[in-house]
Amino acid sequence: MVKKCIATGCFVFNKSRILLVCHKALGGIWIQPGGHVDANEIPTDAALREVKEETGIDVKLIGDTGIKSKSKRYLPKPILVTYTRVPYKDRPAHYHFNMLYLAEMTNPKQRIRTSDENAKTGWFTEKEVDGLKMFVNVRTSIHAGFKAMRALHRLG
Ligand SMILES: [Zn+2]
Repeated sequence: MVKKCIATGCFVFNKSRILLVCHKALGGIWIQPGGHVDANEIPTDAALREVKEETGIDVKLIGDTGIKSKSKRYLPKPILVTYTRVPYKDRPAHYHFNMLYLAEMTNPKQRIRTSDENAKTGWFTEKEVDGLKMFVNVRTSIHAGFKAMRALHRLG
């Protein structure tokens, strides 16, 4: 049996740039901030927590439930749900159902910082993303994030 996890990630935008981290455990590749949903969490809270832990940035998710209800049982929709093999260097590879959300900074003046699990953190234009070392499916997902932000007229 291969382990399967629920994970989350955020495409955090500031004007025309996306926030990415260079992940040590994945061999120095660039990816959106994110990670496992803890046992006591819902995916949307995990997404916000992971961005804060990995980059120091406070964000709010962009996206609604698609339903007119104040009930907390309807969560904001991710823009993508992916199912991928995660080739960790320091533990057995396994599969992730990854819920990917759009997000914006709650305070655009906040500075990014790099956590212990990441080698680097940075803001990149869509063009610059193509020059970064990353998994093909991550690059495809990131371009979908830019496209969704453009459609919302939120790319500065
Ligand atoms: Zn996992």
